[in-house]
This record gives sequence, structure tokens and C-alpha cells, in this order.
Amino acid sequence: MALTGIQIFKLLPKTNCKECGVPTCLAFAMNLASGKAELDNCPYVSDEAREKLAEASAPPIRPVKLGKGVRQTTAGGETVMYRHEKTFYNPTLLAATVPSSISDADLTERLKVWNAFQYERVGLNLRPELIAVKDDGAGAEPFAKVAKTIAETSEFNLILMSDDADVMKAAVDAAGFKRPLIYAATESNIDAFGEIAKAAELPIAVKADGVEALIPLTDKLVAMGVKDIVIDTGSRDLKGSFQDQVSIRRAALKGGNRSLGFPTITFPCEMAGNPDMEALIAGMFIAKYGGIVVLSEFNTETLFPLLLERLNIFTDPQRPMTVTEGIYEIGNPDENSPVMVTTNFALTYFIVSGEAEGSRVPCWLLIKEAEGLSVLTAWAAGKFSGDDVGVFVKKSGIADKIKHNELIIPGYAAAIAGDVEEELPDWNITVGPREAAHLPAFLKAKVGA
Ligand code: SF4
Repeated sequence: MALTGIQIFKLLPKTNCKECGVPTCLAFAMNLASGKAELDNCPYVSDEAREKLAEASAPPIRPVKLGKGVRQTTAGGETVMYRHEKTFYNPTLLAATVPSSISDADLTERLKVWNAFQYERVGLNLRPELIAVKDDGAGAEPFAKVAKTIAETSEFNLILMSDDADVMKAAVDAAGFKRPLIYAATESNIDAFGEIAKAAELPIAVKADGVEALIPLTDKLVAMGVKDIVIDTGSRDLKGSFQDQVSIRRAALKGGNRSLGFPTITFPCEMAGNPDMEALIAGMFIAKYGGIVVLSEFNTETLFPLLLERLNIFTDPQRPMTVTEGIYEIGNPDENSPVMVTTNFALTYFIVSGEAEGSRVPCWLLIKEAEGLSVLTAWAAGKFSGDDVGVFVKKSGIADKIKHNELIIPGYAAAIAGDVEEELPDWNITVGPREAAHLPAFLKAKVGA
């Protein structure tokens, strides 16, 4: 159960030395209680108090690290029911399934295709993280071999799915170096599976028949010393599974139930009869509150929208996405290429740069810091004024790269043209189109293309 600010204060040194950045220990305690401060900011907490506070200040849903390498990731770690309360931290992980009896050729082909499913969006590389290897009764050797091949030859990380301890042990021996998730400990095999997870220091999923039945199993694993746990309520019907996700999140966050304070794993692949319905169900679990979503396979037509949904849900709603201020080259611009300026709102940048690229007219795009606001909002808020834009253009160094002196400003910021001209008396200021969609025609007309 989370401690209150006063309870935390009682564990602090109470010297009010200010080294944590706030004037008093009480203020620091209040910040810690509300998640606005890190315990490490106070260098004087005793070891005993640190242990108590670390436990109390840990996220109500434990963050569980999965995998190794470039697609290493974390599930869980969430602190709020609703995204607008603060933010969601660790995006729902997406997995596709392969059977352990898959042929070498099919596996190689699948890995090749799935590995190519990577999408650039707002400067981020969107891609799935996991492959679930499902024991289909082919035995320990093929199961371990498939896991090893995926671990060694692809960036994907692994979920190992078997209820046979010998089969699981073989795969852990072969692919344990990639920190796979063991799936799943159940009432009947928890001792053996718990030992495998503990010995190899791997995360493990627990599967039970309902939310209540999970509690003794997670408690048992924690008592064994296994803390990186993922939970599966076993429900495979839409309504029941959705209710379980909400119940678990609520129990962990509102009820302080540490036995349920773990990320969940969900299986749209076992709940739908076709890929479209599977994607819809997966979309539901991304929104509420799946830690891992297991699909039957990756298809670009369903994966891409799921990745986009995930991107939107797991961005901080209080911080606009931005790109870095500076000069961006579109196509290979030269000294005669047009120069445009706009704000650093990520969406603005990607829409403008996308349209400019589409025009095939090489150009220079100057991105001015404007607190991540769109052009009209930034202008209205005084973050994209003529003076500021003029000073920015001077300092940007663009003048050293071109032989002309024309600057194109966004149509929505036409009102700043006069002030920009005053700040840049040697430049010609041209007002560009309001809508980015009109940019290709505008640029083509400008260069006579
Ligand atoms: Fe108190 Fe620690 Fe902050 Fe100093 S650094 S004021 S002891 S909480």
C-alpha cells in the first residue's frame, strides 16, 4: 500500500538541508507521495528507510523487463487508471505466434517478413517486440531449436509457451540469454516452473482460472524469490477478459493489491475467428490495459494501425511531441533550393516534410522551437512571433548554405511577415500556403517544375 506524505516524512532525516531541491523534508515527502520526486534525490535516507520507501514508492504495477538487444522492453510500471491523469509509461507489447513444429524454411521466411515490419513515424521506429513460440507437442528439441533460432537470428524477443517443465527447461537453456518470458506457471506446475524462472533469473507468466485464483500463485512465486511476473486470468471471452483487465488495474492501483500488481498478458489470437476481429480485440487491450497482446501473426494491414494506436495512447498527453530545432534537408537541397520555416510540433514537421518530400522539390526546412505548438497556436501564444523567427533564421546558419534570400513562412502565420522583414531586412519574405496539402503545387510553381 502506498505511504502518505506524512508517513514518508517520518522516515526522512528531517534536517531540511535542501539538497533534494526543495526547501524542507516535508515538501520532499509530499512530492515523493505524489510521484513528483525520486527517492534518490535525497542522499541522506538510511538504508532501512530506503527499503521501506522503495517498496512504498514502487509503481503499483511492477515494471517487468523483457528481452535483450534493440527490442528489449518493459511491460507494466503503470501508475494511473486513465491516461489523462498523468501518462501511461510502457506501451503494450505486441507478439505473434509460431508453433514449435514450424519448418526451418517457414521460420526463416516469417522472420524475414516480420522483421521488415518497421514504420517511421514522428521520428520514432514503430515495430513489434515479441514472438511467442507455442509448444504444439513436437517435443523439447524442436521447441528449443525454434526458440534458439529466433533468439540468435532475429531482433525479436521471446515468449516461451509450454506447460511441460522439461520442454520449457530445454528452451530456457537454448534461448535464456535473450531473457524470454516463461509462459506459464499454473497451479499444477508452479513449483517446477518457479524453479526454472528463479534459476535462470527470467520473467514468468502465471495463468489461473480467474482473477482471484491468481493471487495465491503470484504470492507463492514472490515467496520463492521470483518477482518479475506477468499475469493471465485465463479468460478467453471478450467480455470476461476485458473485465479482468479493468479489475486487475483497479485492484492494483486503487486497492493497493500487490498480489495483482503485475502486467497482464492477453490472447486475441485465441478469441477471434479472423484477423480483423483479432486486430479489433488487440486494439481494445492496447487501450485497456493489456501489458502484452499475443496475435496469431503479424500482418502489415493490422499491425500498422495497432502500432499507431499504441503510439497515441502511450504518449504523454501533457507534453506535445516535438522535433529538435534546426535545419532539415528535404531531398538533396542546394544553394538555390527554397527555404521554409515552421514550428517544432512533431505533427507539423512530419506533415510539412512529407508533403515537401512528395513534391520532389529539394528544399530546406527550418524548424523553430515553439514548445511543440502548431503554427497557429504558437503564433497566438507568442511563441512564433516575427522577431523570434527572424532572430532564429539569422542564428540558424542557413544563410551560409544558400545563395538567395527568400524565406517562406507558413500561411497561418502570414501576420508575422512584416516583423520578420524588419528583423531580416535583406530577405524577401513569402507567405506559403495555409494547408500543407497545397505545398507541393506551391513548391513546384516556385522552382518552375
Ligand atoms: Fe530532507 Fe533529504 Fe531533502 Fe535534505 S535532501 S531536505 S534531508 S529530504
